[in-house]
Amino acid sequence: MMKIMIDAGHGPETAGKRSPDGLLREFSFNSAVANLIQQYLMEEGLTVYFAHDEQKDVSLAERTRYANKMQVEAFISIHANAYGTNWNLANGIETYAYLTASQESLALASLIQRSLIMACNRTDRGVKKADFAVLRETNMPAVLIECGFMTHRQEAALLLQKAYRKQCAKAISFAITAWAYRGKL
Ligand SMILES: [Zn+2]
Repeated sequence: MMKIMIDAGHGPETAGKRSPDGLLREFSFNSAVANLIQQYLMEEGLTVYFAHDEQKDVSLAERTRYANKMQVEAFISIHANAYGTNWNLANGIETYAYLTASQESLALASLIQRSLIMACNRTDRGVKKADFAVLRETNMPAVLIECGFMTHRQEAALLLQKAYRKQCAKAISFAITAWAYRGKL
């Protein structure tokens, strides 16, 4: 069985990481989407592991060590974005791969980004590269997804909605499944 690790970014105790009005905490969005993705991927015959813990903060080093130990086929980190700490107009969805990402990693990032844009109809900020620890320290294709801005009023409202969370999870799961079974059917 193909193994996929889902990483809900940050943790229940992480300071900051919330909308300006305090109604939305990033980890609650990240972990809700992670739970939905787990459900959808299990239906597709994939085995899902979580890098995070609902009860306590898990360090980035622990998360990547666990992914490498379990030898998962892909590491998917779920986030919501912020630009500064006050409401502003920055908006949209973006997906990150490592600076020297493999073709496999870039293919996964591109599928996820395109799937999310089609499903969620938000601004397409594209696939980007960054030196994030979860991308750098993992030995397998790894992506980090920013599903919208907590600092944008309309997107913060969406990020709180069950329907938007489901739409994000479905789009991400579709892309992971397509990628995982590529050329293997
Ligand atoms: Zn985050």
